[in-house]
Amino acid sequence: MSSDERKYIIIGNGFAGTTAAEQLRKLDPVGSITMFADEPYPLYNRIALPPLLRGQVTEAKVIIRDLAWHEKHRIDLRLGTRVESINAAGKTVVAAGREWPFDALLVATGGKPNPAESPGAAGAHNVFNFQYMDDTKAISQQLQSAKSAVSVGGSFIAYELAEAFVSRKVETHWLVRGPRFLRRMLDEFAGELLDEAAAADGCHVHYNEEVKEFVRSNGVVTKVITTSGLEIATDCVGVGLGLTINTQLLAGTGAKISANGIRCDDRLETEIAGIFAAGDAAEFFDPIAEMHYRMGTWNNAGAHGKVAAANMAGGDVRYHDVPEYSSKIFTDQTITQFGLSPEYRNDLDTVRKVDKDLKHYRALYFHADRLVGGVLIGKGNRAGKRKYLEAIKNKDRFPKTEWQSILDWTA
Ligand SMILES: Cc1cc2nc3c(=O)[nH]c(=O)nc-3n(C[C@H](O)[C@H](O)[C@H](O)COP(=O)(O)OP(=O)(O)OC[C@H]3O[C@@H](n4cnc5c(N)ncnc54)[C@H](O)[C@@H]3O)c2cc1C
Repeated sequence: MSSDERKYIIIGNGFAGTTAAEQLRKLDPVGSITMFADEPYPLYNRIALPPLLRGQVTEAKVIIRDLAWHEKHRIDLRLGTRVESINAAGKTVVAAGREWPFDALLVATGGKPNPAESPGAAGAHNVFNFQYMDDTKAISQQLQSAKSAVSVGGSFIAYELAEAFVSRKVETHWLVRGPRFLRRMLDEFAGELLDEAAAADGCHVHYNEEVKEFVRSNGVVTKVITTSGLEIATDCVGVGLGLTINTQLLAGTGAKISANGIRCDDRLETEIAGIFAAGDAAEFFDPIAEMHYRMGTWNNAGAHGKVAAANMAGGDVRYHDVPEYSSKIFTDQTITQFGLSPEYRNDLDTVRKVDKDLKHYRALYFHADRLVGGVLIGKGNRAGKRKYLEAIKNKDRFPKTEWQSILDWTA
């Protein structure tokens, strides 16, 4: 290797890290790329874990990059190797008992799922988070003999668990702490439609409920007692209580970190030149929304990977995108979210339209006179989405008198 070959290190081989590695190889055919992964798998499709748990796809289909792909792209993938520390001043990381020098470093470490903390949960053999391939395999195994299961939490992950339990024909109880699922993002009208979808699939949702105690026998939870006194027999407990972002490697380095992630600019660079963050771990500056926030979605992880790689290779590329995702909600519903929502800032104005017969819901969010985001619920209700995304990207301004009519934009 000649001395002017750049050394790139990537921590985390999720979609953000692996996309960055692929992009780096395109942009820099000669630099060395080393990617550390503390899981034992090459990139797998995290958003395909729910279908894997439901038994609708195989593990082989979920793994989307094999070792041969990494070899072909000369990406030195170090599986099962945790990076222990970063020396920002000396430009090295420590892993596998040695120091690895870098010219540019990407921290794409994602987050770790929060465990259930009520008495009886710690160390129980049938209480699971749902973040990794190995979680999926363990839950799947447990469901083979389960008759009843409980999902805990109001997050997307708790929903995915509840849906998987239902589809595996297990009696399903879902405990939601708030008055509805995704309560920070959705209002009561949206909540009602999603509740109908859950009921139609036979899922028993209990709102304003938390676990008071997990009752155990021989290390296995057999019953959940809720804060209101409900007692639910169970063979399997799934927990979706949010993520704690893996920022600790940058603690004390001078990079700005918070409980919400690793602060970076619209080039995905942290406060330390040459050190970048991407994906679930990054609290990035969005120049369209004109604020920092974190966006835990698959597409956003890929978009970040590309931008970070371009800048690691010496370019000057800025994130300029409107994040969006769509998801099916039980058999009957779909949800699409784009841009900002009340989950990200609490000073947005909302206009909404609800059609109970069609089971449609549209909400658009405005900040001052700019459209900044929206939520669409209901099958076939996404007409106009492209126009909304364009308007957000262009920072178009709309007088308040027009807001209601914008709900009726068609493709
Ligand atoms: C069950 C499930 C369903 C989802 N469904 C959807 C969906 O429908 N739509 C959607 O848009 N998003 C969905 N998401 C979210 C989406 O998958 C994530 O936003 C995205 O995968 C994040 O990618 P990432 O590369 O930033 O992080 P991750 O995929 O979390 O990858 C980070 C990797 O870094 C590793 N790591 C951490 N620390 C170290 C270290 N010190 N050394 C080495 N390795 C380390 C971690 O173990 C992990 O493998 C879902 C997530 C889950 C769990």
